[in-house]
This record gives sequence, structure tokens and C-alpha cells, in this order.
Amino acid sequence: MAATSSQKKAPAYDLPTPEPESPSLTRPRQPYRFSTLCATVDSPDADHKDQHGSSSVPIYQTATFKGVGGQYDYTRSGNPTRSHLEHHIAKISSAAHAFAVSSGMAALDVITRLLKPGCEIIAGDDLYGGTNRLLTYLRTHMGVTVHHVDTTKAESVIPYLHPGKTAMVLLESPTNPLLKIVDIAGISSLVKEKCEDAVVVVDNTMMSPYLQRPLEHGADIVYDSATKYLSGHHDLMAGVITCNRDDLAKEMAFIINSVGNALTPFDSFLLLRGTKTLAIRMDRQQSTAMLVAQMLSKLGFVTHYPGLPNHPGKEIHDRISDGYGAVLSFETGDKELSERIVAATRLWGISVSFGCVNSLISMPCVMSHASIDPATRAARGLPEDLIRLCVGIEDPADLLDDLRHALIEAGAITFAANNYIRIPNPISRAVEKLALGEARTARPLDHREWFVSAPGKVILFGEHAVVHGVTAVAASVDLRCYGLTSPRYDGKVSVHFADINNYKHEWEIDELPWDAVVPIPNGEVHPDTLDQRVIDAIKARALPPEDKMPPKTHAAAIAFLYLYMMMTSAGSRPSFHFVCRSSLPIGAGLGSSASFSVCIATALLILHGRIELPAVPPPSREPTDNEPGHIHVSHGGRRAIPPDIADETNRWAFVAEKVLHGNPSGVDNSVAVFGGALAYVRPGFGKRSGMDQIQGFKSLRFLLIDSKVPRDTKALVAGVARKKAAEPEHVGRLLDAIQVISNEARRALADPEVPRNVLLAGLSSLIDENHVHLASLGVSHPSLEVIRAKTAGAPYRLSTKLTGAGGGGCAITLVPDEFAHEKLQSLIKSLESAGYQPYVTSVGGSGLGILSPYDDIVIDEDDDTPPLSPPMTPDLNGEVDGPALRRSIRRHFETVSTVELPKWASARGKWLYV
Ligand code: PLP
Repeated sequence: MAATSSQKKAPAYDLPTPEPESPSLTRPRQPYRFSTLCATVDSPDADHKDQHGSSSVPIYQTATFKGVGGQYDYTRSGNPTRSHLEHHIAKISSAAHAFAVSSGMAALDVITRLLKPGCEIIAGDDLYGGTNRLLTYLRTHMGVTVHHVDTTKAESVIPYLHPGKTAMVLLESPTNPLLKIVDIAGISSLVKEKCEDAVVVVDNTMMSPYLQRPLEHGADIVYDSATKYLSGHHDLMAGVITCNRDDLAKEMAFIINSVGNALTPFDSFLLLRGTKTLAIRMDRQQSTAMLVAQMLSKLGFVTHYPGLPNHPGKEIHDRISDGYGAVLSFETGDKELSERIVAATRLWGISVSFGCVNSLISMPCVMSHASIDPATRAARGLPEDLIRLCVGIEDPADLLDDLRHALIEAGAITFAANNYIRIPNPISRAVEKLALGEARTARPLDHREWFVSAPGKVILFGEHAVVHGVTAVAASVDLRCYGLTSPRYDGKVSVHFADINNYKHEWEIDELPWDAVVPIPNGEVHPDTLDQRVIDAIKARALPPEDKMPPKTHAAAIAFLYLYMMMTSAGSRPSFHFVCRSSLPIGAGLGSSASFSVCIATALLILHGRIELPAVPPPSREPTDNEPGHIHVSHGGRRAIPPDIADETNRWAFVAEKVLHGNPSGVDNSVAVFGGALAYVRPGFGKRSGMDQIQGFKSLRFLLIDSKVPRDTKALVAGVARKKAAEPEHVGRLLDAIQVISNEARRALADPEVPRNVLLAGLSSLIDENHVHLASLGVSHPSLEVIRAKTAGAPYRLSTKLTGAGGGGCAITLVPDEFAHEKLQSLIKSLESAGYQPYVTSVGGSGLGILSPYDDIVIDEDDDTPPLSPPMTPDLNGEVDGPALRRSIRRHFETVSTVELPKWASARGKWLYV
């Protein structure tokens, strides 16, 4: 729920809080909060008190004032009622100057008169219609160039910032009616950086000064249609302009006096009166708006409201504003259904505009936005079936009740099993499919196969201690999870988790629970919290119960489907098969789930068209009809995966990790994406927290030994916590000692000056020491001590420590560079015969890898296996063995042994790595 006025951060009002009148009260007073400021109207001129002591500002309904040289002479230039209003608006807007004019459009007219012919404006592409109309006029009559850009992406203004030419940047946030969020602070600083003379102007009508004060975030001029929330009663038209710059204020005062559009005394009185109740009205309006948004979203309507957890740009909005406002919109999937809903409401009045104490309902495409032609509306993504709700101050229960009744009467929802549920809308689905054509039909968007892989991780130092604020050092391990996507042409999506009980499942794409999904638009970041509705819908409608599925497959399938559905944008629902293999032991604490998460995130980002790899060098020979499979690519230099792709993959992999683990630290997926090594400190210990890449990490050879004894991480972590509570000093000393080890290791790993033999000898002793401390914390296990003894004994003399949670799990043994091959083989044999599973691996290698068969996959020319095609996946012509599939590596991938897998995968072609 939105913050109330007393919880708000105090804005920087320029008016001092009055000194106490009684001299005996010496304690300084707190600055007044917003609703107090709203309710108390001060005189603009401290020396002039009202002659009769009127408690409300009188209406000076006069055109002229008598005398010469007085403060007022003519109402166009100044009027006491208006002065009080302007002073009041400045006070509640953190502004040095305020002006009241005859409407919101009049305010923008005054502001745009600051422009000169030949200059340029950058404006959003989803602005209020009247604003667009005025900008078009300026373009066609005044020689002003207007660039409309998608301001929801701050960086999209950059190409249009032309120093010396760009004079104004015009923003609105949230937009109306789709509530798109614009990073006012981010754009303002970009503008100031490149075009310091350009003026940033914000239309703040949707928020009012109560919820958003853009002057505090870098804007130069802010205006509101005061017809809306500031007045609150739909009984007047007004606009207000605020700014802090004296030069701009002087120019605008001159324009208002010249044009003569200042607000009349009577309307100034009404607006001042309305403003007094702004905070209390908005508190009520937005708390009800949240209830309405939650109800609609829960019923499965696509609902646009910044207060909903999945709303695109919510994090930005939360940073720059104090609430979510009282305008929201939702989609029903069918224009006629929307019309029936609007017509069936009684309490919600059908009307344009918003901000009134009475609740309003409208269909923007047939009302407020009807003047925009349908093609432009479609291009802006304004759904024809969109219903906009502007919430008033009526009793929330009555508003919800009226809306629910209208939804029932219109046939959008019904009451069943003690619950309101949405009625599926077959007509709209059919129309939607027709309208969106190929995009929505479940065909592959990409006819290529994609092969991706990501490493696991080991904790080198600091496990367990990390829970108590000590730095952990984690590094990638060269055992990887691999994913291969093959296109399907039958409207299905399928998975094969080959190394998790050989689990397979396929879904009809159209039958997935789409009604529960509000996808994250391309380029937006998934909110911090998962959309539980989507998870619940997947569990209830797309998968059997967890106990009817093999262990670990339930969560993996949910993570896959969650990402698949949340990434859907512009109707993309690719049809493909995803096979996953792992050379990493699963569930051994080596980050297999994170590398799985990175593989699904990467594959899905590619197939949804959300990331694009750098262009491939042109093939040296074009494929011909006779030789469709022979595509040779001339490799000019090694391409690497660009950092923005790595970052985007990491963000989505973290989302998958959340599905799998609830509350992951983000270390495992970061290592799986970026490779190398990183140091991590948990937040909440009063020191710098977060992750730091250890630069210059030198790859090291380790023997990774899976004890095959299962661990219980939670119990072990709880055991350490208990020990710490019982013996705080002893455990405190152990933790301090581990911190010293982590620091030392981190320093040595990053220092290019440390000779290799010194580094290895140093790490060996740190490994031994760290293990002893872990054993003292009670997290070792007899099997791990056996492994340690075996590796430390003659003739090996190697250093070993448990890694990760311990309690069984895995151990790591540092293998020096010069360690003889035969000796290593004999150690491996001895460990194997004791029932352990050793892997020779390097630590600190590359991160995420991507390989597209069409650029890089190598099929052995002498391979006599027939052309491969994924079974059950007919091509567009219904043929199973279409040319596009001839070079599929799927069957090999599914059947190659785990031991051979890494070698086989790297031999497929040149991988791109992070
Ligand atoms: N800005 C926004 C966001 C609006 O919604 C409106 C009116 O609906 C205006 C500006 C124009 O204000 P007015 O109608 O007071 O001229």
C-alpha cells in the first residue's frame, strides 16, 4: 500500500517551519509533513496579513486595483487570490516559483514559448494526446523539430541529444493510460551531461506533487493539469507550472502576462481550496486503486498499475515517487467485452479525465485517445480493448462490488467453487491469433539449433563462514551444464533433462496458463520478487504434482516454464525442444542448478529474440541446394559474448535460481555466467557487501572429489549457528581466521607478480588451514577426512579441503602444475576404488558459452550416421527430415556419455565465451 503522508520522506521545501510563538518552548519543531503543508495556506508576503483576519483566502474578484505603485494594479499581471495559490503550490512542490494558468494545456503553451524556431525537442512517444497536438503545431508552424522517442528506455534519448540544438526534453511518468514508467532522474542527468542548456520539462499530472516532485530529480520545469488531482473535484480547469530557476521563472512570468492566460481569481480560490485536501484524497484513492488492481490481476486480466509487483519499471518508479497514484488500466482480450463491462458499471462514471473524488471508467481507444488514428494506436501498443479506471474516494467495498458486478454482467467473470473466476474468452483468443498471425502461432522464431553451456562453481575459501559475514571466494569449475535447442513445427515446447532421471515432458504451447502471465517487456528487468501467480498456475495446470515427478525435475520444469512464459513479448511463443546435459554432478553443491539456470536463460533469451549475438562473418561459400549442409564460415578473429548479453543472461538466470532455491545469493549464477573467480560478502554485517570479480585469476588444476555422501546444507548451517551461539568467542576466532585466509587467497590470486610456484604453495597451506577451521566448526564428515588423508599421504602430499556445505558433499584437492600424470592416475584409481568419484578439472576458466550450429557446428564429414532430425518435429511442410534439420546434433548430444560430453561439445565448433 502506498505510504501515507506521515511516512513520506521530507521534501526540501524552501519555507521555514514557523518559530514557536511562545518563547518558553525552546525545543525546535520538526518540518511539517506534506498533508500539513497542504492544509495550511500561508501569506506570500509575511508583512501583509489579511485586514479582517479571514481564515480562507478571499476571492479578489476585480480586474483592477486603485492607486499607483501598489503591489497589484491589473489582474492579468497579478491578483492576491492567485498569489496565495501560487505561493502554496510552490511550497508543496519543493519549488522556488509557481504560476497558475487557465489549463494544463495553457501551462504547456507557456513553457513551449521558451523555444525558438530551429531548435529541437525530444519528447516521449506515449504522451497525452493534447500534448502531441501542440507539439505537432509547433513542428508545422514554428519550425521546431520534434523527436518522439521511447523514453521508457533512458538511453534512447542519447542519439537525439544535439548540443546547441536540443532545447527541451519533455517527459511524462507514468504515462496515461498504460502507466509506462520513465526514469526522470536518469534522463535528466543524461541531458545535463550532453546538453547543459536543454530544459527538462515534466508533465506530473498523473502523480501530483504529493506523490512525485520531479524538481528533486533534475527536472527544470514541472507542470500539472490542476484540473485533475490538485483540484480534485472536476469543477474547474487549471494548470500550474513550477521551477527553481530564476531566469526561467522570469521569462515565463513575462509570457503569462503577455498572453493573458493566468488563472482567474475565482478559479484560483477553488483550486486553493481543493489543494488543501490533496494528500488525504490521494491516500484514499491510491489505496483503493491498489485493491482494484490486485483484484483484476488476480482474476487474470492483464493489469497495468505501478503498484503491482511485475509492473515494468516499478523499481524506477519506487525510486522517484512516493506512491502509485489512482489511475490503472486493464485488458480483457475483447473490445466488445470491454464495452459491455464499461456499460454495466453504475458507480464508476463513464467519463474522460481523472483525479476527481468520483471514480471514472473509460475506454481510451474510443474516448480520450480516439483522436489518435488506429494505426498509431496499434504502433504504440495501445490495446483496443483497454479499460482505464480512475479511482475516487468512494468506499472501496462499493467500488470493488460495482466492478465485480459489471464484470459478471458482461460475461467476463463468474462465481464458481466459492470464488470469482475469469471466463475464458474463445472469441478473443481466435481474433488475437488471427491479428497477430505468425507471431502468436507457436512456430520456432529461429530455425537454427543453439548450443549453450555454463560452468559449475566451487567455493575455494570461506564456505559456512560466509553466512556470518566472512568473504567467500568462489570460482568456476570446468565441469559444465549444456543445453541444446532444436526447432519444432508442431506448436509444442518440450524438455529433456537427460541427466535428471532422463526426464521428458512436452506441452501444447497454447494450453500453457497464459492468462496468469504478465510478461516482462523486452529490455525490462524482472522485478525482485517472482510472480507467484504464474508459479501457482504452472504447478496447478502445466505439471503433475511434485510427488508424481522424479526428484529435482519439478522445480527445474517450473523454472523453465516460468522463464519461457515471462519472456514472451510481442506475442513470441517459440516452439522448440530443449535438451539439457550435465557433466557436473547434480546436487553435490557444485552449482549445477545455477549452470542449468544460465543455460535455460541463455537459450530462452535467444529464442525469444531478446538477445542478439554479434554478426557472424559471412560464409566463405554459400550453401547450395545440393549441399545444404555444407556451410563454412570464415572466422575472422574470435568473437566474445558482449557484456550486455552476459548481464542480461545473469539477471534472468538469477530469476531461475529464485524459482529453484527461493532466496539465492546470486554468487552461483554470476560465476556460471562470468567464469573466473569472485569474492562475495553477504549484506547485513556493516561492511561493504556484494560481489567483486577477482581480476587476473589464473586457472588452477584441481581434483574435485564427490564423496557421494548426501549433505543436508540447512542442518549444517544451523549447526554452525548453534555453535556460535553456544561458544561465541571460540567461533568468532575461527571466523576471523577464515577471513584472514580469504583475504590472503584473494590477494594472491589477483596479484600478477606472485610467481606460480609461490602461489601454489601458498594456496596449499591456505587450503589445509581452512579445512581444519571448517572441521572445528563441525561441518566435516568422516568420508571427507578419508579423502583428505588419502590425498595428503605419500606419495601424493596434496592439500585438500571440503568445499561448499561439507557434511559429505565434495572435496577439492589442489594439483600442482608439475604433478606427474601417472601419480594423478594412481590417486584417481585409489579414490575410485574407495567409492568416491574424482574429476580432474580446472578452476577459474570461462563462463557462459554459446555456439550456433549454423555458424560453427562441426559435423564430422566422415560420420556415416544418417542426417539427424529431432523425432516428432515435422518441418514447415510437414516433413520430418527438412534441410534445416539435417545437421541436427541432437541425437548425438542426447546419447554421448557424460565422460565424453565435454570433449564432444568443445569439438562441435568454436564457442563464444564470456
Ligand atoms: N497532461 C495530462 C497528462 C493530461 O491528462 C491532461 C488532460 O487530460 C493535460 C495534460 C491537459 O490538461 P488540461 O485538460 O487541464 O488542459
